[in-house]
Amino acid sequence: MQLLEERILRDGKVYPGQVLKVSGFLNHLIDENLLDEVGKEISARFSEDGVTKILTVEASGIAIACAAAHYLHAPVLFAKKSKTSNVSDNCYKAEVKSYTHGNVNTVLVDKEFLSSSDRVLIVDDFLAHGAAVHGLISLIEQAGACLVGCAIAIEKGFQGGGDALRKSGVRVESLAIVDSMSDDSLTFRK
Ligand code: 5GP
Repeated sequence: MQLLEERILRDGKVYPGQVLKVSGFLNHLIDENLLDEVGKEISARFSEDGVTKILTVEASGIAIACAAAHYLHAPVLFAKKSKTSNVSDNCYKAEVKSYTHGNVNTVLVDKEFLSSSDRVLIVDDFLAHGAAVHGLISLIEQAGACLVGCAIAIEKGFQGGGDALRKSGVRVESLAIVDSMSDDSLTFRK
């Protein structure tokens, strides 16, 4: 998505640990116009797939999921992060290692809100090694729901998570795929 790629080139910042900061427009300060275009683009790619629920993980996926939900007319369910595994039995749970913080969180959704009749689209801001998406897929599988695919704003292609998912048959649509990045250059997959 050209608009997103241009914005990453203009305002994205590369930090140590292969972290791309997009805090100035996507996941801290949010450019609502860009967010709306991201939502529209996700909707265009999945509008024929009968999505009944959009699943993301708190916190930075929520805004993007809501932007997509507006056009797909499906509700957003966000997995909550809990530092303990001692949570209510009425939840589906999965363990996810955080890319940016290094700790392991239990992510959970209430069983009431995800069922075997759902067709679920996963949405997130970043895809790196794929831990967050794998955790969300586990929640979908526990519910017996159908995974429609994953819509990601920014995939860091060089970290392999997206291609491994595609190889295993998951439909992954990323609006910008970063193929390499360093302090002074960043390239996208074409
Ligand atoms: P993964 O689980 O695929 O390794 O990493 C994806 C998750 O880690 C996303 O939910 C995102 O919040 C975070 N993340 C991974 N890489 C980056 C990055 O370069 N920048 C930011 N801001 N978040 C990232």
